[in-house]
Amino acid sequence: MQTRPIDGTAIARELRGGLLKRAAALSASGVRAGLAVIRVGSHAASSVYVRNKIKACGEAGIYSQDIQLPDTADESTLLGKIRALNNDPRIHGILVQLPLPPGFSADRVFEAIDPLKDVDGFHPTNIGLLAIGHPRFVPCTPLGVMKLLDHEGIDPEGRRAVVVGRSNIVGKPMALLLLQRGATVTICNSKTPDLGSVTREAEILVVAAGKPKLVDAKMVRAGAIVIDVGINRLADGKLAGDVDYDSVVGTAARVTPVPGGVGPMTIAMLLENTIASAEHALAAGLGA
Ligand code: NAP
Repeated sequence: MQTRPIDGTAIARELRGGLLKRAAALSASGVRAGLAVIRVGSHAASSVYVRNKIKACGEAGIYSQDIQLPDTADESTLLGKIRALNNDPRIHGILVQLPLPPGFSADRVFEAIDPLKDVDGFHPTNIGLLAIGHPRFVPCTPLGVMKLLDHEGIDPEGRRAVVVGRSNIVGKPMALLLLQRGATVTICNSKTPDLGSVTREAEILVVAAGKPKLVDAKMVRAGAIVIDVGINRLADGKLAGDVDYDSVVGTAARVTPVPGGVGPMTIAMLLENTIASAEHALAAGLGA
């Protein structure tokens, strides 16, 4: 079997070209799309992620605010900041960078965000809309995976799909999106016995477990589409996915590399959701 990689970097670049045009059309109508990213305290990896998001906004013509609350900030300070941004007409998207410090309730924080500005798609209203098949804002990583599949002409309808991981951020919304598109979906978690016997059934296999090289060729059906969401930092400083890429070459038909697969799509989808929110605000007469 010849395995072809799916080049998420190139696909994200192409999509971002289209977003630049949508941002320009918004500006011509008097609305500049705006994203606020809030983080609490200092967390090395979060700083890198936020820096990349702010840079991507600049490149897409999106106004951005990088709001860093000090280590000493409590949850009520964060909730107050979110309420202010909910009422700020310059801001169409609000993202709270995870992880939050101990003692903060991520659920309370997500619920405080105006669901119409919830570009991460974590508000219970947006999760509910996705669950009933009327998605509004969809979490960026699973949305990015769907765009990768669409771009490559891979139609989930009628296919067996397996998602490894059941987090609210990746696994569950991923499974809902595949289900909505007519795939027959199985979701695995850390208690799933004999994981390989389930993953081998997958024509489309999405792995989001946060366990480096969890999936190898023995766990992959010949000719499968393998999407590796995992980003794991190894002891030697290198990045590894949840899939043993070298092992599955020769077995999978298509596979996403790490880095350069799903990661670039996640940022592109954040920009997409922010621009969609600004377009909605413009249509509703709420544009700044
Ligand atoms: P998470 O919240 O830790 O969830 C991991 C999920 O995987 C859990 O549901 C867990 O099951 C399951 N799991 C763990 N070990 C397993 C095993 N041996 N067999 C089967 N299931 C197993 O992680 P996450 O936020 O979903 O992220 C997953 C990975 O994706 C991480 O590497 C993260 O860094 C990466 N990620 C990448 C992007 C991107 O842009 N590319 C974005 C977000 C996340 P239980 O529920 O039973 O514990």
